[in-house]
Amino acid sequence: MAVGSNIHPEDRIPRCLDLLGTIPETEVEAISSWYRTRPWGLETQPDFINLVVGLGTGLSPRDLLRATQAIEIRLGRVREAINGPRTIDLDILLFGDWISEEADLRIPHPGLLLRDFMLIPLVEIAPDVPHPDRGRPVRELTGEIRYRQIIEKRPGTGSGSGSG
Ligand code: AMP
Repeated sequence: MAVGSNIHPEDRIPRCLDLLGTIPETEVEAISSWYRTRPWGLETQPDFINLVVGLGTGLSPRDLLRATQAIEIRLGRVREAINGPRTIDLDILLFGDWISEEADLRIPHPGLLLRDFMLIPLVEIAPDVPHPDRGRPVRELTGEIRYRQIIEKRPGTGSGSGSG
């Protein structure tokens, strides 16, 4: 799960991690470092904090999406501009070997291999996880990154970071 925020991230990201842990049948298994990144799209907005969280879940992908969208709303996501500031954005990057090309649920996430702030934190917490379309571990796919937006990695910032 990719987590991004550029409105009050120091407050919203820890709250988001807590709420992810309250999703039924779901556990937070790993949390990457926090990455400060240049904003995507609209550039006259604050830098983002991006990270990736590994979840174990018994839910279906669609039920997980519903639960994460409820967290976005609960944390006060306001969408005023496309690619504009957001309190919290949650994207499902991978779901085991599951592949979905429906518009409202694309898995693997179409940005995963293109955007450093999605792939690099994923490689940090799960380097050996296979990419279902490529049949190769994600650590071997960083050469495909097209958009480099990470400014710095902030180790040790995440609440309870670094587990499993
Ligand atoms: P965003 O602006 O990135 O938050 O996009 C939200 C929309 O993307 C929602 O309507 C979701 O249904 C859709 N969507 C498609 N694939 C995914 C995915 N893998 N994770 C999260 N949202 C997704």
